[in-house]
Amino acid sequence: MSVYVFGHRNPDSDSIIGAISISYLKNQLEDEEYIPARQGDISAETAFILEKFGYANKVPELKTSVAGEKVYLVDSTDKAHFQDDIDDATILGVIDHHKLGDITTSTPLECWIRPIGCSNTVVKEVYDAMGVEIPKEIAGMMMLAILSDTVIFKSPTCTKADTKAVKELAEIAGVENYKELAMEMFIVKSGTDGATARELNTRDYKVFDMNGAKVGVNQLEMIDISALDDRIDEIYADMVAMKEEEGLHTMLVLLTDIMKEGSKLLCASDDVSKIEAAFNTKLENNQVWLDGVLSRKKQVIPVVQPQF
Ligand code: MG
Ligand code: MG
Ligand code: MG
Repeated sequence: MSVYVFGHRNPDSDSIIGAISISYLKNQLEDEEYIPARQGDISAETAFILEKFGYANKVPELKTSVAGEKVYLVDSTDKAHFQDDIDDATILGVIDHHKLGDITTSTPLECWIRPIGCSNTVVKEVYDAMGVEIPKEIAGMMMLAILSDTVIFKSPTCTKADTKAVKELAEIAGVENYKELAMEMFIVKSGTDGATARELNTRDYKVFDMNGAKVGVNQLEMIDISALDDRIDEIYADMVAMKEEEGLHTMLVLLTDIMKEGSKLLCASDDVSKIEAAFNTKLENNQVWLDGVLSRKKQVIPVVQPQF
């Protein structure tokens, strides 16, 4: 029986590349066949990475139901981020770099979770621990996934393990100027032309269960967020619509400016005071600039969650 490897809903590059890198690793070590999968469309950024390293026609397969299947998870352990029937799958293992979520298992599992910048850094460490050589193309894709998650090492989530992994992977992939290639990737990621407000609001969207309240948080990482200045009202109106449709208590959008190294926070909430208390600030026009805030997992979720 095959094992499907996948990351969270609205897959980012770490989820898609992680599915590929873990599947390859497992296929060198185990008899069962591991198959890279995904829960949704790939982003323009991920398409760029796959294309760059010859994987454009090897996009992981779509898997929206997993009842009765064996699975291996990457980049989240939150039930809300997986298929509705994830409880009916057998979870063989997980590689992640987020807070521990609410996934439970009925059988022993392999578990590699580290508080570092990217799941693919953990994957790299597992390759090394198991003595498996990383193919050139997979190394290149893992390298870009790490540079994406760590915002080219600027994110407060970035650790020495991440910079070390990128250097070693760049060497294997034969990429000399990895920062230049990463900037090229972020230019692709920053593209918003022709995208509807809903497309923008769901680009990197995650829902968190906060003591029974549903809190949706979307993040757009851009080289220059002023490109969206004249679309803020439209984006906010759609946030209000999403909040209603999905029964959210709060919908947050982080417009992260990777050059200015901070985020504009937009907030639609049943109780704005919770968000103001979380960041010790006042919203004006449903928004506020948060200097130095680049990471949802490290600088947003941990301060918002205790308010609920
Ligand atoms: Mg992710
Ligand atoms: Mg990640
Ligand atoms: Mg991210």
